[in-house]
Amino acid sequence: MARVAVVGGGLGGCASAARLAKLGHEVTLVEALPSLGGAIGVTRQDGFEWDTGPATTALPAVLRDLFRKSGRPLERELDLVPVQPMREHRFVDGTRVVLPSGSRSEQIQAIDEGLGAGTGRQWADYVHSQAERWDLLRRDYLERPWSPTGASRETQDLLRSRLMMHKAVTRAFKDKRLQTLAWHHAVQGGHDPRNVPAWFGILDYVEQTFGTWTFPGGFGRLAELLTKRLGERGVAVMTGTTAKDLAMGPQGPQAVETTSGTVDCDKVVVAVDPRRLPALREHVDRSMPALPPAVCHVGLAQEVPDMPHEIVVHDEYVISVRTDGRAPAGKSAWTLIGRGKLSEDLVMALARKRIDLRDLVETRVDLSPRQLVEQWSGSPAGVLWQGRATVTDRLSVETPLPGVYAAGAHTGGGGWVPFVGLTAAVVADAIGPA
Ligand SMILES: Cc1cc2nc3c(=O)[nH]c(=O)nc-3n(C[C@H](O)[C@H](O)[C@H](O)COP(=O)(O)OP(=O)(O)OC[C@H]3O[C@@H](n4cnc5c(N)ncnc54)[C@H](O)[C@@H]3O)c2cc1C
Repeated sequence: MARVAVVGGGLGGCASAARLAKLGHEVTLVEALPSLGGAIGVTRQDGFEWDTGPATTALPAVLRDLFRKSGRPLERELDLVPVQPMREHRFVDGTRVVLPSGSRSEQIQAIDEGLGAGTGRQWADYVHSQAERWDLLRRDYLERPWSPTGASRETQDLLRSRLMMHKAVTRAFKDKRLQTLAWHHAVQGGHDPRNVPAWFGILDYVEQTFGTWTFPGGFGRLAELLTKRLGERGVAVMTGTTAKDLAMGPQGPQAVETTSGTVDCDKVVVAVDPRRLPALREHVDRSMPALPPAVCHVGLAQEVPDMPHEIVVHDEYVISVRTDGRAPAGKSAWTLIGRGKLSEDLVMALARKRIDLRDLVETRVDLSPRQLVEQWSGSPAGVLWQGRATVTDRLSVETPLPGVYAAGAHTGGGGWVPFVGLTAAVVADAIGPA
């Protein structure tokens, strides 16, 4: 049995701690904030409730696997329901696509209807071209620690490829709206598609194949369930405690130094931005964090019926409007998430796009990217893509320090709930049973 210290109580840290405790290790989790969940949680004000970060996830198998491998299955604790339609995209020319999740044929139909005959098939061909990449990366990169020697030649070629998303997508589509659709995930994650590898298109494949899902009552339910699971597994949770550095011995870590004293350990899982820990800084000095978006939660004075779960308004900037917050009767709770060249207030920018909430806003919570980084002592968006070298410039789950592992958005695939969940599974496999 190892004494494992997990630094960070977001999804990456909580999932790692739960899995390792189930494997028989003595686990202590250190979290700076008073509660667990990190970007996954609830924001409340004046009777309104919004998801703090994600409101849905693709690839629910990752969360199902986490709960099955750490105790009672997810289905016995919480409902996880598909989100249909997944998202509406509104383009600069006034056209719209209401995109279903989890179905190729329905996506073809929706895109043909929104963007014109033949566009649906072009989209389906593009998404299908990601299938083989997904299989390779899942096997060699996302479900085990990345090592150039352990991966197949095809995966190595894929990860070393100079082909970036912008080039691949402009080659695949003449239609600017399909291009916008194809790099939406990269832009939403805070990246420039010119610096994001073409294989990042696997996110569209995953959404189309496995669907997009949510918890009725909000993603905060997941944070509550993770907290409960850690209690059941006997994890010692130290909230309100910031990790300052790792004390390394010749064989590996000896302790984590925190604001509440020293946590002795034989292994450490770092599920925070590794720049925050001096022992790891030199190993990540060629990478940079991706900024989180600007966020504005609004409480609206009336119900707005029949809205898709998410409306994405594309222009020089992108505003995602998430409509499924919880509100008192007769009212609505929306979240506006802004990316790109936004030089004005999100509610104003949205009004220009003919979603005018100005007279309806009863209450609002505004959070700039900088405030979000301060709140979580790092960015839940993970590492900024700066070309193919980012794969090796950021930490692998097995870090260069013996006995020190990385989980969460700053390793593996990056800042996306399925990727973050997978890093915890890889950490647990790498450390193994007690
Ligand atoms: C507004 C927003 C919307 C999003 N929407 C989606 C979405 O729709 N779909 C999707 O898949 N993903 C989405 N994401 C991304 C997703 O939420 C994150 O990638 C994921 O939750 C990151 O988890 P994590 O555990 O790596 O990091 P975090 O959630 O950032 O958790 C890190 C934790 O570590 C703590 N911490 C930091 N430093 C220290 C320290 N030194 N000592 C102790 N504790 C420390 C922090 O307080 C925090 O609790 C969204 C994110 C945001 C911000």
